[in-house]
Amino acid sequence: MATIAIDPRVSSRTAGFVSTDHRMLVDGRFVKAASGKTFPVYNPATGDVIAHVPEAEAEDVNRAVLAARRAFDDGAWVRMAPSERGRLLWKLADLLEKNLDEFAELESLDNGKPFAIARVADVPYSVDMFRYMGGWATKITGSTIPLSCGYDFHSYTVREPVGVVGQIIPWNFPLLMAAWKLAPALACGCTVVLKLAEQTPLTGLRLAQLIDEAGFPPGVVNVLTGYGEGAGAPLAAHDMVDKVAFTGSTEVGKLIVKAATGNLKKVTLELGGKSPAIVFADAKLEQAVAGTASAIFFNHGQCCCAGSRLYVHEKVFDQVVEGVGKIAEDIKLAPGLDPSSQMGPLVSDEQYRKVVGYIESGIAEGAQVAAGGPVSGMERGWFVRPTVLTNTNPRMKVVQEEIFGPVVCAVPFSDAEIDKIIQRANDTVYGLASSVWTQNLSLAHKVARGIRAGTVWVNCHNVFDASLPFGGYKQSGWGREMGEQVLNNYTETKAVTVAL
Ligand code: NDP
Repeated sequence: MATIAIDPRVSSRTAGFVSTDHRMLVDGRFVKAASGKTFPVYNPATGDVIAHVPEAEAEDVNRAVLAARRAFDDGAWVRMAPSERGRLLWKLADLLEKNLDEFAELESLDNGKPFAIARVADVPYSVDMFRYMGGWATKITGSTIPLSCGYDFHSYTVREPVGVVGQIIPWNFPLLMAAWKLAPALACGCTVVLKLAEQTPLTGLRLAQLIDEAGFPPGVVNVLTGYGEGAGAPLAAHDMVDKVAFTGSTEVGKLIVKAATGNLKKVTLELGGKSPAIVFADAKLEQAVAGTASAIFFNHGQCCCAGSRLYVHEKVFDQVVEGVGKIAEDIKLAPGLDPSSQMGPLVSDEQYRKVVGYIESGIAEGAQVAAGGPVSGMERGWFVRPTVLTNTNPRMKVVQEEIFGPVVCAVPFSDAEIDKIIQRANDTVYGLASSVWTQNLSLAHKVARGIRAGTVWVNCHNVFDASLPFGGYKQSGWGREMGEQVLNNYTETKAVTVAL
């Protein structure tokens, strides 16, 4: 086993948790993997191993699914008063909030993001999601329906939990993705097996302890650590799972759909993106420059909705590129736990190689580097400099494919092309998000109408709220996360008709 090296900046409490003998939550107990196997967790700022966690495989998945099945089928959770389910979600939110600093430290250490960001975004947004969904637990209603065929019936609908849910989450917002998935499923009365991402299991494992402390009944939430093929695939294929909810790459999303065919389980997917940010000549430039820079550089570009294609009217193109480039050059790269850090490392060596490979491929195909580039200048860790590419063309890989790093392609458009800009913005297989920057109200609405994506931001980007539905058109996914709409993912509708 490699030496454990935890960053000396973390508090003794966080260090204590990181160094524990990590266990998964299955059926209300904290357990090792059935095989006894573990796998290493790395600090992306150094490449050091910081922990080992259990490596769940098919046997562990099976145990967790059986526990979730029993917890669902015995009916206690489903029949629990909705206000009590809501109270448990609120209690979990309170516990999370009480441990805000510890969770922010863990997230920073494990994922690489700046502590300050995790503290103001990841953790509070997760708290809010549990509270918001706790509120929905008492408001999941059906409707009464007047039948068109006659007056002699009384018909109504009820919404019931879909059953046992397998949830598979990624590493870019580890705690927040766990909250996005768990909170609505539990509010609806489902039981859950949650598989954390191999790169970032720490906040999910700590959350499992809080779930236990909050008093959720055994088997209602089961939390596994393991690899995608070893644990994710058997979870997606398991016959006793009624539904699988996945966030990650479009490629794995397609595998999930195939795996789900055995028992035709329900599937929702939150997948990749190649989101356009469109800046018109009349935009407030200071706002547009800061906003489009943040659209791509927030979370190191490791956002499914990152504004990675920047279309700018030619009249303001140079100013915008210069402004975004200056912001890129000024961003301070440092380990997330360094208080001066404005951007930490990417999450893994694999992700680092992928992103640097894209920058190099863009350059090889003729793109010019307006800021950043493939060399980070950092001595250790998986750092990539925020990068602005110009002189691209629509068929380049950097323009078409999701890079999932701090790399933006800036593309000018002319007055003559304004009508075509919507078409260009829509010219990828993705349709997750977009932003439009203009002072012209009707233009903003016209573009918003034409964009084929689940989210359009006007004069802003990356604005999220527990109440706002989020998800993709085209190959960016199926279904919506958050808001009232996510409840559809976790409920079945039953129509009841009574002859009067
Ligand atoms: P993946 O899609 O591989 O991983 C997402 C989750 O799926 C992880 O928990 C992973 O497990 C799991 N998984 C992997 N393979 C399978 C499988 N066959 N069956 C079931 N579950 C599986 O994303 P990566 O981490 O590999 O990142 C690759 C790219 O995906 C990124 O560069 C980015 O483009 C995109 N991505 C998109 C995200 C989004 O928010 N939409 C988030 C993360 C990535 P494990 O990681 O433990 O192996």
